[in-house]
Amino acid sequence: MSGFAVELPNQNLDGSSSEATAQSPSEMTNPKVIAEMVIMGTGTSIGVPVVGCRCSVCLSDNPRNRRMRSGVLIRAPHGEMIIDAGPELRMQLVRERATLIRAAVFTHSHADHIMGIDDLRIFGFQMDDSVPLYCEEFVEQQIRQTFSYAFSDPSTHAHKYAAPRLRFERITEGQDFSLLGLNIRTIRLKHGELPILGFRIGNVAFCTDVSTIPADSREQLRNLDVLVLNTLRHKPHPTHLHLDAALNLIRQLQPRQTYLTHMSHELDYDELLKELPPNVAPAYDGLRIAIST
Ligand SMILES: [Zn+2]
Ligand SMILES: [Zn+2]
Ligand SMILES: [Zn+2]
Repeated sequence: MSGFAVELPNQNLDGSSSEATAQSPSEMTNPKVIAEMVIMGTGTSIGVPVVGCRCSVCLSDNPRNRRMRSGVLIRAPHGEMIIDAGPELRMQLVRERATLIRAAVFTHSHADHIMGIDDLRIFGFQMDDSVPLYCEEFVEQQIRQTFSYAFSDPSTHAHKYAAPRLRFERITEGQDFSLLGLNIRTIRLKHGELPILGFRIGNVAFCTDVSTIPADSREQLRNLDVLVLNTLRHKPHPTHLHLDAALNLIRQLQPRQTYLTHMSHELDYDELLKELPPNVAPAYDGLRIAIST
């Protein structure tokens, strides 16, 4: 386990938690830690185990070979948010004892990153407000199509809580935005031909579903303490990094620690760990990473 993975207390989520956070024991021992990223899922789009598969990884007893679909929870100074909302979102939030997701940020609109959006419904009731979805325009169009019932005339809904209350906040490549007390940098990545976003918060970056990183974006990923980067398998793939390509990128970017995510059932946790350099490790569901300025 890396020295960058630390425990933070649960935030007070009434929206004014910065004072309580500043006085917490973790803050006193490590004053630069401002937030925490919890890796909620590390699996590729079909998840691991794969339904019906009898391979050694899918049949493994190692909990680190059980990978829900990709996404992270961020415990920020002013509450909790997520990056991506995969189909197991509710189970992931229960497992991580999340309390109130105030916002969701999206890398792109593939099904394994958005199909949990209905699980945001409860947070609309709790806040008595819409849940903001931070995404690019094309992602908004896809979400509006996929969840058309959430954007239909409310008078047609069976009752007030029948559909999630959602609104969109536009984010743009290369422009930082602020959310729940954090500054978030948007970084253009390529997923095959599809332009998608990665995010850098302080010393940590989350880049998933990448196959190539444009040169300008690589500059935005220098001097990281932790990079979370997708790695599908050993063999090349048209829209995802494979292991050699990921290691090549890591050598260029030189983060102090890298965690690999969005992994298929072809990667066994223990075997992969053995073949990786010392500052690279597979991520696992539930991994916690400290975010510092
Ligand atoms: Zn994906
Ligand atoms: Zn398998
Ligand atoms: Zn994707």
